[in-house]
Amino acid sequence: MSLTLHVDRTRWHDHLTSVVGDHPGIVPVAKGNGYGFGLGMLGRTAAELGADTVAVGTYAEVAHVRETFAGDVVVLQPWRADETDAVHDERVVHTVSRRSDVEALASSRPGTRVILEGLTSMRRFGMGPLDLREASRAAANLKVEGHALHLPMPAGGRGSSHLAEVERFLGTAPAQRWWVSHLTDRELGTLRADHPDVSWRPRIGTSLWLGERSALRPRATVLETHRVGRGDRVGYRQRVIGRRGTVVVVSGGTAHGVGLEAPTPASSTKQRAVSMAKGGLDAAGRALSPFTVAGKQRWFVEPPHMQASMIFLPDGVDVPEVGDTVALDVRFTTTTFDRVTLD
Ligand SMILES: *Cc1c(COP(=O)(O)O)cnc(C)c1O
Repeated sequence: MSLTLHVDRTRWHDHLTSVVGDHPGIVPVAKGNGYGFGLGMLGRTAAELGADTVAVGTYAEVAHVRETFAGDVVVLQPWRADETDAVHDERVVHTVSRRSDVEALASSRPGTRVILEGLTSMRRFGMGPLDLREASRAAANLKVEGHALHLPMPAGGRGSSHLAEVERFLGTAPAQRWWVSHLTDRELGTLRADHPDVSWRPRIGTSLWLGERSALRPRATVLETHRVGRGDRVGYRQRVIGRRGTVVVVSGGTAHGVGLEAPTPASSTKQRAVSMAKGGLDAAGRALSPFTVAGKQRWFVEPPHMQASMIFLPDGVDVPEVGDTVALDVRFTTTTFDRVTLD
């Protein structure tokens, strides 16, 4: 009866081991909804892959990941003095992004393991190169595990590179270990070659867990089917059906994140059009659902309900049986599956 993520075990594991093999020092990132897999499964998988450290987003996630992972846990969101969820023990490594926080932590909890974060062109958290150097000095009675840089997404074909930015930090605020996010493989390769004494810890989530899309098959269960004729009314909003067909009730609703699109990063008109096709509204106010039946994406009858959705199949399309499953296209970072199975 559930919304299930089927994972092709062999394909997925081949991909994971190849990413791990290509990224010595990798720190798997397990945060949020666990990229669709859940934090517990990611913790267990990280352990199987031999990772000594995983990164979580927030302190509240530490306990979840620890149900399946016994190594070090880096918290990516920076520590703040008023953080009520903060977890302090030997295996938690805190991120500190302001000089004043370094001082506060140094006086309240000397010996705490910390990573000091540099402020990149991303402009989210961190200190500029000079401040980072000063913070590093002020952290003498903390256990500094290295410095961190979170870079914007790779610039793609635009030819720009993160290297100059990274080099500026390395030159100004040296550290033996650098925790880095979103460097390309090529950039990381160059840095490893140019700085053989530095220990590089690439923090990777999306391209690790979701990098082999063909290994991941989300499926919804058909819960009911109802024949309808032109003029019939259906759903909470009693919308009038325009032609004969079948209303199919499938598992998967707003509680799973179905039909809820995160703001699109699409910047071109063409990309936006593609994104519309994945869940936007048409001129008549109909919304295209993410469910595919008989090879075609189908229209919602009305907006998805909490745990189920109603979609419309026009006459002439083979109607699936109750209990059958249908494919759907989802954004994994906003979808919560009822079950994840390794097939
Ligand atoms: C989420 C996050 C990552 C992982 O990002 P992906 O795009 O999923 O690989 C790395 N570093 C930081 C600081 C993050 O917040």
